[in-house]
Amino acid sequence: MAKEKSLYLKRNDGRKFDEVRPITAKVGIVPSADGSASFETGGTKAIAVVRGPRTLHPQHKQDPRTGILRVSYGMMPFSVTDRIRPGPNRRSEEISKVSEWALNSVVDLSEFPNTVVDVFIQIPQADAGTRVAGINAAAIALAHAGIPMKEMVSAIGVGKIDKTLVVDLDKYEDSDFHDGEGSTDIPVVITSRTKKIALLQLDGKISVPELKEAIELAKKTCEEILKVQMKALKEANRSEGKKK
Ligand code: ADP
Repeated sequence: MAKEKSLYLKRNDGRKFDEVRPITAKVGIVPSADGSASFETGGTKAIAVVRGPRTLHPQHKQDPRTGILRVSYGMMPFSVTDRIRPGPNRRSEEISKVSEWALNSVVDLSEFPNTVVDVFIQIPQADAGTRVAGINAAAIALAHAGIPMKEMVSAIGVGKIDKTLVVDLDKYEDSDFHDGEGSTDIPVVITSRTKKIALLQLDGKISVPELKEAIELAKKTCEEILKVQMKALKEANRSEGKKK
């Protein structure tokens, strides 16, 4: 029997299956911070602010071998059409933790024992894919802060809708009404040089061959995202160099 072909040939906004929404990245959006950046894909906007390294308090939490990375993710109350209650919840705590794991795989704080580097990720506007946008913004902000990093990370969500793999789902595509199984969302974080997976989450159902294909699609798309991140950092270096 012929392999079942995609049923989802046309995306809601006319994008190709491997096409991301328009991406922009900006560095230095919070001048008082040690590092800061914004990252946008379509209607999803993320802001990341870095403070540190500074001495970690209370003292018993300090590690004399290395500094500690601490990530906090939050959606702003009016980032979606329904108002979100401000403050931490289970979802924001999970996303803070997984973002921390992904960034920790490239950040090297061994030069800064007993310190903490705080990364605050905020989402002023959400149209799906906020954790990957937040990680992209945070990686740029950490580099901007001059935090030693073995390499960069770039992140993208790959999804499966009606048996078709697509990148960068928006909220419409991320919703459950497309087929009997619901949509599948796979946020993936890829390291820039060694091309390792720094994070992979899976919400939904997918076969092993499809998952492999999704990872390849994520790797290819992360190349594109990396270029945008590096361009933003270079532009900031140039304009900050001019001010000196
Ligand atoms: P991600 O934003 O990383 O894709 P989720 O899959 O948890 O994470 O969320 C998907 C999208 O659902 C969000 O980007 C946002 O657009 C929307 N969303 C998340 N939480 C809420 C909420 N409490 N109220 C309304 N919409 C929400």
